[in-house]
Amino acid sequence: MGIKVYNSLTRKKEDFVPTAEGRVLMYVCGPTVYALSHIGHARSAVSFDVIYKYLKYKGFKVKYARNYTDVDDKIINRANEEGVGAKDLAERYIKAFDEDMEALRVELPDIRPKATETIGRIIEVTEGLIKRGYAYELDGDVYYSVRLKKDYGKLSGKNIDELESGARVGVDERKKDPLDFALWKSSKPGEPSWDSPWGKGRPGWHIECSAMCMEWLGETIDIHGGGKDLIFPHHENEIAQSEAATGKTPYAKYWLHNGFVNIEREKMSKSLGNILNIRDVLKDHTSEAVRLFLLSSHYRSPIDYSKDSLKDAEAAMDRFYKTVQRIGAEYPDALKIEFCVPCIEDRFQPIFEAMDDDFNTAEVIGIIFKEVNRANRIMDEAKASGKPSGLVDLSCIIFVFREAGKFLGLFTRNPEEYFSEKNSRAALPPEEIERLIKERNDARKNKDFKKSDEIRDGLLQKGIVLEDSPKGTTWSVKG
Ligand SMILES: [Zn+2]
Repeated sequence: MGIKVYNSLTRKKEDFVPTAEGRVLMYVCGPTVYALSHIGHARSAVSFDVIYKYLKYKGFKVKYARNYTDVDDKIINRANEEGVGAKDLAERYIKAFDEDMEALRVELPDIRPKATETIGRIIEVTEGLIKRGYAYELDGDVYYSVRLKKDYGKLSGKNIDELESGARVGVDERKKDPLDFALWKSSKPGEPSWDSPWGKGRPGWHIECSAMCMEWLGETIDIHGGGKDLIFPHHENEIAQSEAATGKTPYAKYWLHNGFVNIEREKMSKSLGNILNIRDVLKDHTSEAVRLFLLSSHYRSPIDYSKDSLKDAEAAMDRFYKTVQRIGAEYPDALKIEFCVPCIEDRFQPIFEAMDDDFNTAEVIGIIFKEVNRANRIMDEAKASGKPSGLVDLSCIIFVFREAGKFLGLFTRNPEEYFSEKNSRAALPPEEIERLIKERNDARKNKDFKKSDEIRDGLLQKGIVLEDSPKGTTWSVKG
């Protein structure tokens, strides 16, 4: 059985058959680097990270490009506001985006092209479009003629006449048609610019992606991805330009789009002031809790971010690593497993089926947490019966965790590493916490329970939970 993907272009789930056998060319639209990246960027990056990993896991040779849009009106405006150079501003936010991706454990794509490094190809494609009659120059600007290709609108399902009637207000009078969009914009003084056959200028956003895709992957590709918000006009325009420029259809065989992240049931937007930056979310939650939250819904559905949903995800990750820790303590041999053929053939089948069905990570995560419950049940029962049994089952469970972790980018760490990331958020330095624990233990020895309770409650108020066991007292950060 092969992989099936939902293709936004055909609005159907289709068998995934790349153009060249065994090889996948995949392009995903990356960020416009003018501000810190938010949780919506995280969702797109994590969704396609898992798709990339799973395709590789299944044996495909994948060439994955995710770009940086590093020249754009938003970058220029922000740079002017701050009184810095547009290039410096873009570089600052490329660095910040890369840091956020690393923190979210997103693997680096094979190619990370920048628009400003693809100017030669952008000019070449634009010239080609003029030659073929699909674009025209107007005082140093170049526009794409939307009307000329009859299939414009095929991705978004938009009707060109309806678009036309909505586009009449405030349009540039010089354009042949109000829907025509800029491939090249002449630059104003002080703006970033490059020499071109039409004078000094800079590219429009849509042409950048078409050109980067051609430059780094080819004229036609297998997967083109991005957030649903990019379907219109960005991806629609990319298709129009690329297919008009090369004469090859389809530009991308499969169009995959991830859903939105809503914040407390509201659309995330600047006007509502509810934009949630990745680094702010990571201040309060472990990277794996954030990934788990993002992957617990199908990538195409909308997800609702709330304080509770993140808390639940973190509690689930804690439980996962506590279970692994417990297996390690009670059945250390279970951790030594390297590969298990019966597991892959049997226990792993539902996981493959879910992933093959348009990358249904939500279902896989459901299966993993059933295995977490099963592991605890096996250990509880062994303890109750006084007989150490269940090693084989527990080894298989560990194997399932590790194997699924390879493409989910979850569940593969050592529990100590996970808890130390979590505890690094503590409101007090670890030495201070240890000192208070010692003070509390001394108080308990002296039967000064009032003082020992005060210390415990004081720590709890700072979000630090103490746990007493025969081996001593340990601490962790709450939620
Ligand atoms: Zn793009």
